[in-house]
Amino acid sequence: MSTVAVWFRHDLRCLDHRALSAACEAADSVRAVYFLCPEQLDEHVIAPIRRHYLRRALDELATQLATLGIELDIVNAGHFRALPQALSAYADKFQLEAVYAHKEWLVDEIARDEACQQALNGKLQLIDDSLINPLALSKDDGDPYKVFTPFSKRCRTYLQQQFPRCLRRPTTKGVSVIPSQCPVFGDEKPSTDWPVTEEAVLNQLRTFCAERAEDYQEQRDFPAEQGTSTLSPALALGIISPRQCLARLQAEAGEQIWEAKSGPGCWFNELLWREFYRHIAFHFPRVVKGKAFQPHTDKVAWRYDQKDFDAWREGNTGYPIVDAAMRQLKETGWMHNRLRMISASFLCKDLHIDWRWGEKHFLETLVDADFASNNGGWQWAASTGTDAAPYFRIFNPTTQGQRFDPDGRFILRYVPELNALSGKALHQPPAMDHYPAQIVDHAVARKISLALFQNLAD
Ligand SMILES: Cc1cc2nc3c(=O)[nH]c(=O)nc-3n(C[C@H](O)[C@H](O)[C@H](O)COP(=O)(O)OP(=O)(O)OC[C@H]3O[C@@H](n4cnc5c(N)ncnc54)[C@H](O)[C@@H]3O)c2cc1C
Repeated sequence: MSTVAVWFRHDLRCLDHRALSAACEAADSVRAVYFLCPEQLDEHVIAPIRRHYLRRALDELATQLATLGIELDIVNAGHFRALPQALSAYADKFQLEAVYAHKEWLVDEIARDEACQQALNGKLQLIDDSLINPLALSKDDGDPYKVFTPFSKRCRTYLQQQFPRCLRRPTTKGVSVIPSQCPVFGDEKPSTDWPVTEEAVLNQLRTFCAERAEDYQEQRDFPAEQGTSTLSPALALGIISPRQCLARLQAEAGEQIWEAKSGPGCWFNELLWREFYRHIAFHFPRVVKGKAFQPHTDKVAWRYDQKDFDAWREGNTGYPIVDAAMRQLKETGWMHNRLRMISASFLCKDLHIDWRWGEKHFLETLVDADFASNNGGWQWAASTGTDAAPYFRIFNPTTQGQRFDPDGRFILRYVPELNALSGKALHQPPAMDHYPAQIVDHAVARKISLALFQNLAD
């Protein structure tokens, strides 16, 4: 009897899993494998909350696969570079005819898969799982898109013509097995606020699409409201696919999803931002190597001031909305999108600290850390990226707070020292014993930012 395996990576689910379905069709005997790279976990310093979330997701995946009669092997590969040998040893051990996996599009992952393909003598079956294959769409002149709006318009037309189909859970001939358990990853922080079973995540998606997508456009910028889906951690580990998100959205909102200005259409747009940054990371791999998307902005003379960086990181800048945002990140491992934009802008445009420091800090702290989206978000905020906010458009952290948290409800959740204040004073606190003074004068910092970028143009 021939045996094949499915190599799970950022796709820890059984529903709508193309590689799993293909493997189950190809053979009667199917195994599953997940390679741990503990050294890599350390090198890239993955957030303790994300380690815990990953471990729970793997345990859940093992349970789901076990009901299909598929054993999940969790194999310690030691290091990312050792994966080809580890995979080849695994294939030999179980005499595998083929290994099925979803294609990954970042440059290091592409190189890894090429090496694995060689090590397996061509037995690695890579299947595209993306909502929009990065090779599927290009501009009329054949170049890849560099600007979001035309990209998103093209995606809509493309998806309208071929609306993606979700796959069911595969059927197998296997009898259920006892699920394996993932080992503890050392330093972990509880992630139990984040649902991890496919069922719970799908419920979260259903509730959002049925009850909140309609108001998404009005609510999504206000961190005190529950206006967004909070599905990013599940999307980052692939517990749910963007296809499932789109299908559920369409089931609830119908044709409205094609109207960019409706609530559902606006949410659809956010899913396309995710695709866009994947597309950029694939076509412009310099962004994966720490370079600016716009090469001339690599000359910006950023600062490397540890003291100011620490004040930002700890939420002690004296700007309430920035501090609340950074404390939300520290306490929960997640941050609202509007706050990611405000706090990233503050680091780059008020403290003039290199966006790469901020990018790394977010990757090390976020439960939903995702290289392409994070890099895209940071480069947007630093005005070094695609569609970059023009360098002269600089967020004012005080007015951002007044606009998006007018009554300070969100700020007070994380900065209770300001409890006695309200109105304007809450956003611009007077000198206080128990809250830091502003570490920088925004008006002065703004002028410095303009000069940093103007000098490049000269
Ligand atoms: C500086 C910065 C860093 C970021 N880092 C990450 C990151 O590491 N991981 C991550 O998933 N997102 C990142 N984002 C994008 C965005 O902030 C989060 O995806 C969003 O806050 C997640 O909340 P949600 O699931 O409620 O989103 P919703 O508003 O419900 O959106 C639905 C989904 O669309 C995707 N999405 C939404 N906005 C964006 C966006 N601007 N760019 C790309 N995808 C988007 C996410 O997968 C999200 O779950 C970053 C944004 C900025 C400005």
